[in-house]
Amino acid sequence: MTATDTHCPYCALQCGMTLTPQVPGVKLEPRDFPVNKGGLCAKGFTAADLLDHRDRLLTPLVRKGNGLREATWDEALDRIVEAITHSQSRYGRDSVGAFGGGGLTNEKAYALGKFVRVSLKSASIDYNGRFCMSSAATAANRSLGVDRGLPFPLEDVAQAKTVLLVGANPADAMPPSMQYLDAGRENGARHIVVDPRRTNTAAGAHLHLQPLPGTDLALANGLLHIAVREGYVDEDYVRERTTGFEAVRTATNSYWPERVERMTGVPETRLRETVRLLATQGPAMILTARGAEQHSNGTDTAQAYLNLALALGLVGKPFSGYGTITGQGNGQGGREHGQKADQLPGYRKLDDPAARAHVAEVWGIDPDELPGPGQSAYEMLDQLGEKVRVLMVLASNIAVSAPNSNRVLRKLKDLDFLVVSDIFLSETAELADVVLPTAQWAEEEGTMTNLEGRVIRRKRALPPPPDVRTDLEVLAELSRRLGREESSDPRTVFEELRRASAGGIADYAGITYERIEAEDGVFWPCPAEDHPGTPRLFADGFPTPSGKARMIPVVHRDPAEMPDRQFPYVLTTGRNMQQYQSGNQTRRVKALTVALPEPRAELHPDLARRHGIADGDLVELRSRRGAAVLRARLSDGIRPDTVFAPFHWPGANALTNPALDPHSRMPAFKACAVAISCLKDGTRHTRGTD
Ligand code: SF4
Repeated sequence: MTATDTHCPYCALQCGMTLTPQVPGVKLEPRDFPVNKGGLCAKGFTAADLLDHRDRLLTPLVRKGNGLREATWDEALDRIVEAITHSQSRYGRDSVGAFGGGGLTNEKAYALGKFVRVSLKSASIDYNGRFCMSSAATAANRSLGVDRGLPFPLEDVAQAKTVLLVGANPADAMPPSMQYLDAGRENGARHIVVDPRRTNTAAGAHLHLQPLPGTDLALANGLLHIAVREGYVDEDYVRERTTGFEAVRTATNSYWPERVERMTGVPETRLRETVRLLATQGPAMILTARGAEQHSNGTDTAQAYLNLALALGLVGKPFSGYGTITGQGNGQGGREHGQKADQLPGYRKLDDPAARAHVAEVWGIDPDELPGPGQSAYEMLDQLGEKVRVLMVLASNIAVSAPNSNRVLRKLKDLDFLVVSDIFLSETAELADVVLPTAQWAEEEGTMTNLEGRVIRRKRALPPPPDVRTDLEVLAELSRRLGREESSDPRTVFEELRRASAGGIADYAGITYERIEAEDGVFWPCPAEDHPGTPRLFADGFPTPSGKARMIPVVHRDPAEMPDRQFPYVLTTGRNMQQYQSGNQTRRVKALTVALPEPRAELHPDLARRHGIADGDLVELRSRRGAAVLRARLSDGIRPDTVFAPFHWPGANALTNPALDPHSRMPAFKACAVAISCLKDGTRHTRGTD
């Protein structure tokens, strides 16, 4: 049997693995790829369990009354085209929309964006990356002129002498990446973790700062205040490579350490020690992730850490800088090539006339035929059944992963027609009028772009089951039925993507399947086939009009929802090591569910005692939007005013607040107000909410 070198289907580390078909199943082995160097986590090791899983969707399904029945592809596609045509003739083009995902290959993300803009002629498209990376991306674009999660290879992390990790828990989310942090520590590096919980990452750090969720911006401004007062600002760097520092300095004047300690709960001594380490030990990095970014002020929070990194002169220097740790497998590429509401391929803006002209020419249409920007993910979901009446969902389980999920469930039911493409009958697919069985990662070809901006190859190790199709095949066939010919061949689509991205920020023009293969991936931007690619950005300047990075003053705003007498605690949500995203895949893997059978609400023993809760008790969490019942896990590693719930199961997002960041339209997943009660014997025992 032939062995195929490919990559894990899950997170943005995109660990290398080798698949060898055997009877029965597939043998999966870790591969010595430059990112994971032979490492895999439990999710990656068990990924092949899903290929022949008994729950696998193997034929299209169509709605019949309250249930779904098997159908032919012709019947399923006929129904979809009929629904599209009917809706657009009655309610207008934008009444048909699509919701994509950060797990789609670059080719599929590109094809989906093109399908909606060209075949449907609709503006209604966005994707679940809006719920993931959008705040850090918005901050990086406006400050640095480009959003590439890590502007340096992961291997640089091992060379940094100080690393500040803000709202990131790679020890659980992407364990093989810890080898770089571990190597740094062995060489004397100091790591500081900012997290309201003592995560596995925080437990191994030199310093752990535990701010109240929603106060990360105040913390960053406080660190910059100290840097200014104690003379750590790199004045030459600031003068030569940035703009806007004076306004930022003024904005941080009021963030004196005692005040920041009161706002965040982080002791002043730890704030000072953090700044000293960042400024004096040699190369230093500041890395943010969703804990800091998924807030109604997430963009400004990412900006605050960018301001700090720029003031200390870190960005663009060897083994230094600012980065954001991407979550989803193709979270990076997925936000570059057009499935985002305001975007065209190559990270071009949909409202830029030159970008419209370039992409329209590649697509063979008049620029005036291109619709304008659409609505962001939650805003679109919030209007299902009104503005958008027919929705196609690819690579996303919004019934579980969207905020305020009870309302999203109601809105999904308000649709005239819902189409879901998936490998399993997800909670979203259960509501669909047509379910399309799609190929899995090991059954398809394409490219992904990992957290470093390295474009890699996903390769087919075995064919999909007989009645299963790839999303590219489905989009091409729907286009044909709507009157336009499109290719379903990944290589052909990638060649077109190269042309469409040429000259854009995320320029893939020089990247070929052959180069990716020969070079273990190619870093964008790569504008020509003789260009080496760009592993490290910003050494010579920033792609802004002035060539300098913009520092932008930002100030703390309270989270959109603060604790009060009725809902006295802060809920923050996050990941478990054994699960991935909405759990539609990983909740079906036996080895993972044995290791972690159910979600646990993590709370401090002091808080638990106040409510008569023992470890293992069922507790009910309630917010203004809904309730969820989870088993309690007591831990003295979490703040006593904070409760943590994982988002891999239905429930946590029934509680979360859809308040949106004004710049990125990111919902406030990481801080909302909740009440807690013990459910001993299934009965609620409330001891007041002090
Ligand atoms: S770290 Fe991410 S890419 Fe690597 S094996 Fe685990 S889930 Fe897969």
